[in-house]
Amino acid sequence: MLVWLGSAKPRHRRFLLLDRDGVVNVNRPDYVKSLAEVCFYPEALEALGLLERNGIGVILISNQSGINRGLIAWDDFWEMHEGVLGRVEESGGAIQAAFYCPHRPDERCECRKPAPAMIFASCRFAGIDPAQTFFAGDSASDMEAAGNAGCRGVRILRTQTDLSMPEAPGYKTLLDAVVSIYGNSF
Ligand SMILES: [Mg+2]
Ligand SMILES: [Zn+2]
Repeated sequence: MLVWLGSAKPRHRRFLLLDRDGVVNVNRPDYVKSLAEVCFYPEALEALGLLERNGIGVILISNQSGINRGLIAWDDFWEMHEGVLGRVEESGGAIQAAFYCPHRPDERCECRKPAPAMIFASCRFAGIDPAQTFFAGDSASDMEAAGNAGCRGVRILRTQTDLSMPEAPGYKTLLDAVVSIYGNSF
């Protein structure tokens, strides 16, 4: 598990956990391999600004098996990480921490989602209870990871039309999800 912490201690009291590819930026079937391939969803950047302005910290939790598949170079990976942080900040948002799994499925690591390890680690850093925490992702394995961690899964469906998910509420965009989850407390 790769861990990046923006500060030694959490700056917020409330946090939203987010998958990255397919939630903050457009995912690619051949992996998002460099900063040049990171295409942000404008509405997601807006959502991240809204969260920061309302005192809700954001933590990224992302499988990045492209690293150990040999498809993503380490320099490119960290440049992407810095680039995402920078662009989010330009939009008025902030990422407080990021947890990445670099492993391939066949390595049978403990961190790759749907395992709950990265969610647990992020909740320990943030000092929050998984049961009171939302994890927003775009894939079934994200919802499984949320279930395995005992936290609340929120599925971002974007191009899919079926918004009814038996196990987790589904939203078309991250902005829709954020407004729905926190709207009353903004
Ligand atoms: Mg994803
Ligand atoms: Zn792993």
